[in-house]
Amino acid sequence: MWYILPFYPAEETFAFSADINQLLSLIINTFYSNKEIFLRELISNASDALDKIRYQSLTNDAALDTEKDMEIRLIPDKANNTLTIEDTGIGMTKKDLINNLGTIAKSGTKAFMEALTAGADISMIGQFGVGFYSAYLVADKVCVTSKNNDDEAYTWTSEAGGSFVISQDEGNAPIARGTRIVLTMKEDMSEYLEEKRLKDLVKKHSEFVGFPIKLYTEKTTEKEVTDDEDEDDEDDDKPKVEEVDEDEAKKEKKTKKIKEVSHEWDHLNQAKPLWMRKSDDVTHDEYVAFYKALSNDWEEHAAVKHFSVEGQLEFRALLFCPKRAPFDMFEGGSKKKFNHIKLYVRRVFIMDNCEDLMPEWLQFVKGVVDSEDLPLNISRETLQQNKILRVIKKNLVKKCIEMFTDLADNDDLYTKFYEAFGKNLKLGVHEDSTNRNKIAKLLRYHTTKSGEEMSSLDDYVGRMTDSQSGIFYVTGESKRAVENSPFLEQLKKKGYEVIYMVDPIDEYCVQQLKEYEGKKLISATKEGLTMEEDEDEKKAFEEAKAKSEGLCKLMKEVLDDKVEKVTVSNRLADSPCCLVTGEYGWSANMERIMKAQALRDSTQSAYMSSKKTMEINPVNPIIEALREKASADQSDKTVKDLVWLLYDTSLLTSGFSLDEPATFASRIHRLIKLGLSIDEDDEDDDDDVEDLPPLDDDEEESAMEQVD
Ligand code: ADP
Repeated sequence: MWYILPFYPAEETFAFSADINQLLSLIINTFYSNKEIFLRELISNASDALDKIRYQSLTNDAALDTEKDMEIRLIPDKANNTLTIEDTGIGMTKKDLINNLGTIAKSGTKAFMEALTAGADISMIGQFGVGFYSAYLVADKVCVTSKNNDDEAYTWTSEAGGSFVISQDEGNAPIARGTRIVLTMKEDMSEYLEEKRLKDLVKKHSEFVGFPIKLYTEKTTEKEVTDDEDEDDEDDDKPKVEEVDEDEAKKEKKTKKIKEVSHEWDHLNQAKPLWMRKSDDVTHDEYVAFYKALSNDWEEHAAVKHFSVEGQLEFRALLFCPKRAPFDMFEGGSKKKFNHIKLYVRRVFIMDNCEDLMPEWLQFVKGVVDSEDLPLNISRETLQQNKILRVIKKNLVKKCIEMFTDLADNDDLYTKFYEAFGKNLKLGVHEDSTNRNKIAKLLRYHTTKSGEEMSSLDDYVGRMTDSQSGIFYVTGESKRAVENSPFLEQLKKKGYEVIYMVDPIDEYCVQQLKEYEGKKLISATKEGLTMEEDEDEKKAFEEAKAKSEGLCKLMKEVLDDKVEKVTVSNRLADSPCCLVTGEYGWSANMERIMKAQALRDSTQSAYMSSKKTMEINPVNPIIEALREKASADQSDKTVKDLVWLLYDTSLLTSGFSLDEPATFASRIHRLIKLGLSIDEDDEDDDDDVEDLPPLDDDEEESAMEQVD
């Protein structure tokens, strides 16, 4: 009789994803001296896995039944040249092993390789979420055996080289739950099998891991025994005995020393979480070590705030401000809501990135919060409505602002902080109405008077004159673009200081800020700019206005719906004209920003986009000449053409873009021809051709053809 046996492959081979493969060869083939970080990465993964099972057990009592101990074990084995890192965490199912360790590439993989090519250090690997692969810094071969409550145990094995193997072979020490990583060390990596080295490394990088880290150590004790004792022992199981030279003259009885080898688990890390200690008792180095372990950062923090809140509600928190922004801070649009605060409840880790603990603008702050009041079995869903959490959040924001305010006492540190997180502060001003004024205090800007330094709004207010109607600012694409803007001419002439707001987010920020310390923020490019004028100035202005009424009317007729109105300006000193927008509508700069947003809602732009007012400078020679020409002949075609040219150039100097660049160019070409005394008639017989291109578009095109 024949039986057909089903075929179960004992092993399955998988190819690494292309990105991971590339990362692995980079890790293996590039020379890095700082290989020790692999241990920190693997311990950190183990600690995460333990956090996960503990969290699961809060809602499912049975989760821990498979294994009660919650710990991380390190087992160096010199005889076999392996280092084993074991945890009793959540473990991985077969599917997890395949997905997490090699087939699904994360965004961090590519980003990390780019960072490395740009000179980053391998020790930054954890920040990019690919820390596991650092095992290949020290190991030729890595075996990961893992047991999750929902699956059998499986082993993942790889010597890099493009693929990994999944098998069901557990070896001879089954795992109840968790993960065992066996590293077969590279030839010259035996230092990581030394107890002392491992102890030091745990101390350095993993001191504050919230679970016991235990090292399997070998203890050799020497016992001194007299011959008699030795004789007594004779019948026992004999331990290893070595003869030791003894100065027999000194001793009457003959003694022997014997060496006994035993094994012990050494508990390497601190039991008490750092945040539970008093801040006075914690050293700077301890904070640094804790911060690095918490954040995967390779640099120390820029500032720390360690505090506890007591009273109606009780919690402790430890907040860190990093030195640099993370690589993906504003990636994925502003919708991405995450933060780097770990939430604990009475010392039990509850979750990472707890959404409702920090506002978006503070997502770069890292830390832990440990609440005494929240229920242990709280879920992400119930957290959202939780009142306690709302109070904690309010306090965290307050403390963060305090932390930044302290940082501002040190100019150098603050400059670096502001470079990294200034955008976040501006977002804060935009979003947080309660703390708006306090956050605004932290803003720094270049101004017409600040030179290379940046100035705070307080400094600005301190320099304001009594008669100044408010805080003047100008928005634009860059400092260079706004520095010589026509809008600032009169302001500068009168000695007023103007703030340059040249970050796109400034437009949003200033929309909300509106005023600071009771002083109105006034845009130099919008309507509503008032400056103090003496009687003479007022009189001169009124006269100029009366004189220019005719020209204004004519210009409005020519420009028609391109402008809302044409008026005489009080903000120009040298330029002939500029285009001002409505006080509550978009500025030219905002229009530029909105145009650049591919997915913007165009109905909003129709509504918000700038209603332009053309302002003319009555004492500018061009305007004066134009006025005369216009009053001589209202229907002078040249005047109309010049009005269009003035409009187009104002668009440019006022920060708008041209609607019809070709028409503008052809007008300029006409002017160039004039300048070069090229006579159109030489090229064309048409009697109607004028010196400047006609206004009408159709005629315009024929004019352009003639030019060619
Ligand atoms: P990261 O830990 O930053 O996500 P890694 O490359 O270090 O990136 O690990 C990839 C994934 O593999 C982890 O997100 C986790 O799901 C899983 N993993 C790694 N080590 C363990 C472990 N010891 N126990 C359980 N899962 C693990």
